Amino acid sequence: MNRSLLAKLLCTVALGLALAPLPAQQLDSKYARDPNQPVDQAYTDHILKYTTDKSFVSPLVNYLPASKTVPTPEKVLGDVSGAPNMLPYAEDVYKYFRMLQTASPRVKVFTIGHSEEGREMIAVAIADPELLNGLKENDARLAQLGDPRKIGLDDAKAKELIAKSYPVYYITGTIHSIETGAPTALMEMAYRLAVDDSPYIKDIRSHMIVLITPVVEVDGRDRMVDLYKWHRAHPNEKWPRLLYWGHYVAHDNNRDAMGMTLDLSRNVLNTYLQFHAQVLHDLHESVPFLYDNTVGDGPYNAWVDPTLADEWAELGWNNVAQMQNFGMPGVFTHGDFDTWSPGYLMFLAAMHNGISRLYETFGNGGADTEKRILDPEEYSRTWYRQNPPLPVVKWSQRDNNNYEETALLTTLSYFSHHTDHFLENYYLKSKRSVEKPQLAGPAAYVLPLSAADNNRVVELMKVMQRQHVEVQQLTASTTCSVPGEKRTDKPKDETFPAGTLVVRMDQPYSRIADALLDRQFWAPDDPQKHPYDDTGWSFRDMFHVNVVRVTDQSILKAQMEPFTDPLSLAGKVTGTGALVAVPNDGQVSLISLVYKLKGAKIEAVDKPFDAGEKHFNTGSLLISGVSEAELTAALHQYALDGTRLAVDPLVARHVVTAPKIAIMHTWLSTQTEGWWRYAFDTEGVPYDYISTQTAAKEANLRAKYDVIVFAPVGHVSSQQIIDGLPKWNNPLPWEKTALTPNLGRIDSTADMRPGLGFGGLEHLEQFVQQGGLLITCEDTAQFAIDMGLAPGVSVAPKGTARVVGTVLNTVFVDRESPVANGYGTGVPVISADGMVFNVSNTVGRGRERNLMDPYAERPTGRGSLQDSDEPQGRKIVKPEPLVKQEPWQPKPLNEDQMRNNLLLIPVGLRPDVILRFAEAKEMLLDGLLDKAKPIAERAIVVDAHLGKGNVLLFGNNPVYRGETIGNYGLVFNAILNHDRLDQPRTVEKPAKKPVDEPAAKP
Ligand SMILES: [Zn+2]
Repeated sequence: MNRSLLAKLLCTVALGLALAPLPAQQLDSKYARDPNQPVDQAYTDHILKYTTDKSFVSPLVNYLPASKTVPTPEKVLGDVSGAPNMLPYAEDVYKYFRMLQTASPRVKVFTIGHSEEGREMIAVAIADPELLNGLKENDARLAQLGDPRKIGLDDAKAKELIAKSYPVYYITGTIHSIETGAPTALMEMAYRLAVDDSPYIKDIRSHMIVLITPVVEVDGRDRMVDLYKWHRAHPNEKWPRLLYWGHYVAHDNNRDAMGMTLDLSRNVLNTYLQFHAQVLHDLHESVPFLYDNTVGDGPYNAWVDPTLADEWAELGWNNVAQMQNFGMPGVFTHGDFDTWSPGYLMFLAAMHNGISRLYETFGNGGADTEKRILDPEEYSRTWYRQNPPLPVVKWSQRDNNNYEETALLTTLSYFSHHTDHFLENYYLKSKRSVEKPQLAGPAAYVLPLSAADNNRVVELMKVMQRQHVEVQQLTASTTCSVPGEKRTDKPKDETFPAGTLVVRMDQPYSRIADALLDRQFWAPDDPQKHPYDDTGWSFRDMFHVNVVRVTDQSILKAQMEPFTDPLSLAGKVTGTGALVAVPNDGQVSLISLVYKLKGAKIEAVDKPFDAGEKHFNTGSLLISGVSEAELTAALHQYALDGTRLAVDPLVARHVVTAPKIAIMHTWLSTQTEGWWRYAFDTEGVPYDYISTQTAAKEANLRAKYDVIVFAPVGHVSSQQIIDGLPKWNNPLPWEKTALTPNLGRIDSTADMRPGLGFGGLEHLEQFVQQGGLLITCEDTAQFAIDMGLAPGVSVAPKGTARVVGTVLNTVFVDRESPVANGYGTGVPVISADGMVFNVSNTVGRGRERNLMDPYAERPTGRGSLQDSDEPQGRKIVKPEPLVKQEPWQPKPLNEDQMRNNLLLIPVGLRPDVILRFAEAKEMLLDGLLDKAKPIAERAIVVDAHLGKGNVLLFGNNPVYRGETIGNYGLVFNAILNHDRLDQPRTVEKPAKKPVDEPAAKP
């Protein structure tokens, strides 16, 4: 067949398709094809073959235009995008985009950074060559719209810039590694954008720049592809679940937009801001068939510009309506996703003057074509889902790709016709961010520095930097008015000295600083009864630093200069003398010195002392025998201040040795413990990473470790920790092999199914009995209790109390515990669901509380409420005085109750409560708290004793999402003092409240 005949034929085919399209296309002429552009018939045939129902494809993607020069995804994939049984590695996806770049002047590929495991992340810009060649100039214009200070907030100038500018629409795929469809959908969509001559596509590429990161979680993607390949190679076997998505966390990589701990969050935000994009649109695949969750549900985040809420509605409803016109079922917006937390990746745009968007399409967790059976709540019709998904469906990866591409193309088309409108909004939102002090306030957040806080302030400033927030430092002292504590309190004048940090709100990214540093309140009677994520997060509380919200605009006129180096706040040595004292002030990184300064003599003081003006808490370190260079480098790296002492303080002390630590994980889930690994790695605290299977095999754990950290698994039962996964089926390997080169690198096993087992439990118990410290938290604390590792501790019933990721106030009960070293009276904690403990002086299920409170109740009888009843006709016998029991205390036992009591825990082995919640009315800091009484004042951190060792139980998660900086010290104190948690206290524990004699018991 000669070329012209082929072209003619292709043309005929294209025309043929154009003449016999789906009915929607005849009506909706705006998506008409270019009749002169040939179609790649083989590719088109495969699209239709892999689409399981004709309603699952649209006229936008039911064909592929042909190109003589630009390769289709088939070139790399060997089949079409979304073909069954095939998932490409990130490397292959990149290879394709680079082929596109070579073949088309409309495509440019950028490296935007690397993952924790060193894998590349890319962004691909697609537009007409004129736009791509003018990227730099366009970006310079967008930068001025994004920072209106550069044009003096002049709307006329903004209008000129808008007229010349092209917006940037940034799409990100596969942050969640088990959601596998986006890379192939984005490959094909990029091809369409580069090649298709349909007028609507031409409009897109001539009016805007489409920016694509096809794989966000690149480490997890490669592991997922490995797993899928294993599955294909073992068609008759069950296949393992994806355990490690990213290097540290799984699903929570989409909760990192506040703390910015992960490389992927930082790389995406840097790209979004470097391109001055207007939209960040993140693709997910966990809802049938397409949920544009942009519109979501209330409550909306309280710090977004109202214009953004309108943009969500505008884009969301338009998108749904367009899909509806194609007759594609199951497309909806609104839904039950609340837009409160700013932790989601897409929310980086919402907090930086852009538009955050998110699609949930329907994925099969791989590329198998499957019969899918939906739940009633998924297929039922409701007011915002008039054309719901089908209850039973045969679903393919191609169907998923059709939905993703169609929705994106229609929304890009809409955007391309309203570029001025969205650029205007971008400018307005940016301008209002700069005008925040006058429009909404506050004027600034002010951080008065104090030596005790600075280490944690450094961490907060690192977050501000990662969020691209400008921070200033006062060069002279200034006085301004500061609001009172409560709404009714009068404002008072406060003077801030030079050096104080100021986060001005008259800057483009004031919004994210405001959202992180302000407080959050979720009304208990809010109509939204199912918060999607944490309800509170204030970084001033979580980082345990002093932040003042200043509304007085005079602060903005104070003398200040840009603050650019967080590490300048701390990390210096002052004074002279051979002995260097480093205070313990609840820093995140005091423990780091013990590992960093190898060969130095490090002692910890057993009592507080003063040296000159400086106060050193119990647990402060005295360091000697280290070179000046080594010491200053370490102190600088970890932002710790040191003081050389001219005279030895002669205070009681003990030598600190570097504890040997294991972090133990299960093969059930590694999501939540991943945050602990992240913290230990970041702070330079070395550990062996072992699994429950290692513990099962290792008879003498104590010989290897001083501390075993069993961080939360994530809502698993104690039985699951013991049993692991059911053994009915085949072994589930997690190993590096030729077939699965990306598995088994963090930890590996020939079979993921076995759990800790009772053998492992015995080893763990022996470890503690022999003097080891086991640190547990949430579900692993429950495990320690259930398995008898924490005598006298139980989980207290929560009653009707409601806590959903809430930041709560606490009080230290035992400030003499080394765990409390460096802390004051309390420290804010985040509680997932209000978990609290009861402690008892007995083991087993004893009755913990008196059924009748003799101080508040009395039986019917003689006298007034305050009198004792006195039975008639016999001698009056005074009752034994009762010691009033506080909610965090064990029930005191009297002589009678202790007699021959086999369950009585000997003194010294009874659990010690270290931290408790504050009283009900003082408890709430941030988020939702309702009906707090059952959990108020109850224990949340308890040290239980078993043999010679200890089991530390946390009801709160002290190492969470890089946000609980104020709590890290609790964990690291415990580790540093693993062998000293039982030391007799230097002072009496807080005296029990004196009590009057109670009224007579009946
Ligand atoms: Zn997802």
